[in-house]
Amino acid sequence: MPIPPEIAHLTRQGTFTGFHGSPSTDVPFWIAPQNATQLRKALELCITHKTPASVKGSSWSISSITKPNRVLIDLGQFHNEVPPVRGVDSDHVDEAPAKGKYVHVRGNVLVRYLNHTLAMSTPRLALSTSGAANGQAIAGAIATGSHGAAIGYGAIHEAVRAVCLLTSPDTAVLVQPEAASFNEGLAKSLASELGVPVVALADDEAFGAALVGLGAVGVVYSLVLEVEPLYQLKAVWVDRDADDQGVFDAIDDDEPARLAPSVANAFNVAFAFNPYPEQGTAIWGSVLRKIKPTEAYVGPRVAHPRFGNSINFWIAQQSPLLRKLCPGVVDWAIRQHYHDSAPPPDKALFPGDAFGDTTLAQGMGRGIEFAVHRRHAGKALRCLLQALKRELKDEGRALAGAMGMRYVGPSRLGLLGMNCADRAKHPSFNGIACFEVGAMAGPRDANTTRIFQACERAMRELDVPFTLHWGLENDGLLASDIERYFGGNVDRWRKGRNRILPDAVQQACFRNPLTAQVGLTS
Ligand SMILES: Cc1cc2nc3c(=O)[nH]c(=O)nc-3n(C[C@H](O)[C@H](O)[C@H](O)COP(=O)(O)OP(=O)(O)OC[C@H]3O[C@@H](n4cnc5c(N)ncnc54)[C@H](O)[C@@H]3O)c2cc1C
Repeated sequence: MPIPPEIAHLTRQGTFTGFHGSPSTDVPFWIAPQNATQLRKALELCITHKTPASVKGSSWSISSITKPNRVLIDLGQFHNEVPPVRGVDSDHVDEAPAKGKYVHVRGNVLVRYLNHTLAMSTPRLALSTSGAANGQAIAGAIATGSHGAAIGYGAIHEAVRAVCLLTSPDTAVLVQPEAASFNEGLAKSLASELGVPVVALADDEAFGAALVGLGAVGVVYSLVLEVEPLYQLKAVWVDRDADDQGVFDAIDDDEPARLAPSVANAFNVAFAFNPYPEQGTAIWGSVLRKIKPTEAYVGPRVAHPRFGNSINFWIAQQSPLLRKLCPGVVDWAIRQHYHDSAPPPDKALFPGDAFGDTTLAQGMGRGIEFAVHRRHAGKALRCLLQALKRELKDEGRALAGAMGMRYVGPSRLGLLGMNCADRAKHPSFNGIACFEVGAMAGPRDANTTRIFQACERAMRELDVPFTLHWGLENDGLLASDIERYFGGNVDRWRKGRNRILPDAVQQACFRNPLTAQVGLTS
């Protein structure tokens, strides 16, 4: 493929490796455009040679959603005259934000940078929610429906009010819901930044598709987010033994926050489970509420690397054996990690600190996440815990990790985020419970793969509709799984995508192995 001279110096061969070592593949054309003209040239190359454009975020996804084709467009060096995070011109606003401010963010901005910039701004601001860690590009995080445990809010994409997508070398769209917040002025101002006309598209299906676009709706140049005044998070910890009926009852009754009765307005609800405890605490819950800041924000806290070092990794590798020889030691190590012996002080944290740098070093993490509607949470929890126990008892395979459970509020306009549902079929949908089976293991660890497969088999036998996180391990996810879980949203997403990418050449350009695997694209 002949590379145009304008981008030849920005193009190299390379090996793409995801943050945790998977996927990994050789890339013949790794292009790092530094401005919009070069980005459009890179897209022209893809369209001319009919090769899909893979866009690189932070490569934190473990699934094939991030597996590059022959061309990888790396936006790590992309910049232009406008600041990466800025306000929205009031002349472009038709509908004022409900409680905070609109900020216009370039798609390649990292969540870490965004948290800090918002917290330092005047007035001081914050994302309403984020994932548990902050290394994703904002466009990458949203593309896979990334979420925290915001039972009272939803996933990160809930904050998006408009998305600007470059959809070919010559076309771009500004996608908003039908009840649009911004007028044509915003689209016009973006045209001068991208060097192509930006078509304003106010359409709920197109917006729903763009919200969790799975890397298959164009290059996300920028997003307008609604953010809120800076807050802190204060936690109540719920530490219980494995057989504590109170936890299971609260989950079965769909009232998980009642485990922390002192918290009137629970914002985040999460649990971690040690699947095979001999004795002692095996369930760690946290119920968080938002409070007005009690101190000034001065900068991000440095993460304590207690989890992500090679010694811990080595110990985790031995845990299946240790689990057989001296299970109490493994329980102790897990308790240490989950603050059993030294509960953290009841300290309020800024959101960017509560959900800051990952403490798990590169190449040391595996994870599969099952999402079910909240009403199925108890069933799914028991099913997965039993599957993990069975694997140990029958096959001698122990997970080098634990299982996390998080609640996420329902999406308002998203279509294929894990927290989205077909509202016609599920009028009382109130959000999801997500179960992440996580291991400190290398990408090719066969035991971990078999444990994940056993969990997946058990969930299929349970006969509760589930989906898998788009960005975590999901090779087994089928078209029939997503049809069952998302219902009519699957077709709505396709229709919305077709409005964003009306030509077959555009559709062929923006797709990836995962969207093909689940039948969303060719
Ligand atoms: C340590 C760690 C912690 C995590 N914590 C959480 C968590 O708490 N909650 C959770 O839900 N998930 C979590 N994840 C998963 C992670 O949030 C998702 O995989 C997320 O998509 C990664 O973002 P990224 O920027 O690395 O995107 P990538 O993995 O690089 O890309 C994901 C998709 O987005 C597309 N994309 C990226 N940028 C653009 C762009 N500008 N335009 C068009 N397409 C684009 C890519 O092409 C790809 O299809 C975690 C992962 C890791 C490694």
